Amino acid sequence: MSDEFNVLIVEDNEKTFKILKGFLADTNYKILRATTAREALKLTKEFYFIAVITEIHIPDMDGIELIRRIKKINKRINLIVLTTSSFVDSAIKALETGAYAYLLKPLSAKEVRIVLKRAIEHTFLLIQARKKKYYQDMSVLDGLTGVYNHRYFYEMLERQVSHLRRFPQVFSLIMIDIDDFKKYNDSKGHLGGDKVLHNAAQLFVNSTRDDDLIFRYGGEEFAIILAQTRQEYAKKVGERIVRAARAKLPVTVSLGLATFPNNAQTKEDLINNADKALYQAKGLGKDRMCVYNKSLEK
Ligand code: GH3
Ligand code: MG
Ligand code: MG
Repeated sequence: MSDEFNVLIVEDNEKTFKILKGFLADTNYKILRATTAREALKLTKEFYFIAVITEIHIPDMDGIELIRRIKKINKRINLIVLTTSSFVDSAIKALETGAYAYLLKPLSAKEVRIVLKRAIEHTFLLIQARKKKYYQDMSVLDGLTGVYNHRYFYEMLERQVSHLRRFPQVFSLIMIDIDDFKKYNDSKGHLGGDKVLHNAAQLFVNSTRDDDLIFRYGGEEFAIILAQTRQEYAKKVGERIVRAARAKLPVTVSLGLATFPNNAQTKEDLINNADKALYQAKGLGKDRMCVYNKSLEK
């Protein structure tokens, strides 16, 4: 944590302000004061406050409205409301509006310090959680298309296969390669090509169920893992994708389908066999899907 935190106290009563400031005297808080809501909003726009301590009754605005507006400026600010036991209802309303906590007057130094400390820890935890999620997402997602990346493809394929060894269940793998993409890049430029890759990925997402996993396997190659999916159903999905691409993309696609454990018993063989089927689709004139079968081995 950094050394100094800005804390704003919204308090028109000089005496209460002095008491609060006194409570926080030997701490690493930098205290600013506003005597009106207007002033508080101005300061909140200008500086970052880890916390704003405010009376529920301030001269120029309803305290709840002030909370709402401060949250709008920065939803991370921890609002701590000062009230008395006869106004607990307003304090609860403040919590519902997004305040972090309320403190009952007469105030105790210990309580004020603990609540502030908790509020700061709360903010740090939120930031950490968000960073963690961000890095988790970054490590499995492809930046250009937003679908899963190559590294995650192997991880998920491994998971499917090792899971299925213990609880044998069918799943299917579709490999997709965009047709004549070099030509498309040559005529529309690399950025135009990138846009198509992005749109193609979204089309694959939209043509499949939520449980199906879409990966960018390589440059203009994609893979789909269809969990618990028999070949007949995977074939329908693949055919739907071929038609959708034909209708909605400026390029066509070729697909190869292989099913575990029918067509292969290891993940390497499954990828190879889906690839063989894809290669056959290219050989037969592209813009289609082929399903792996033993005759492709010859
Ligand atoms: P085929 O129908 O046989 O698949 O022909 P193709 O031209 O699509 O196949 P090939 O594998 O020879 O070429 C793939 C091209 O995809 C090469 C490269 O210019 C393009 N490509 C690969 N990655 C990207 C990318 O990230 N962005 C763009 N714009 N193009 C890419
Ligand atoms: Mg290719
Ligand atoms: Mg291609």
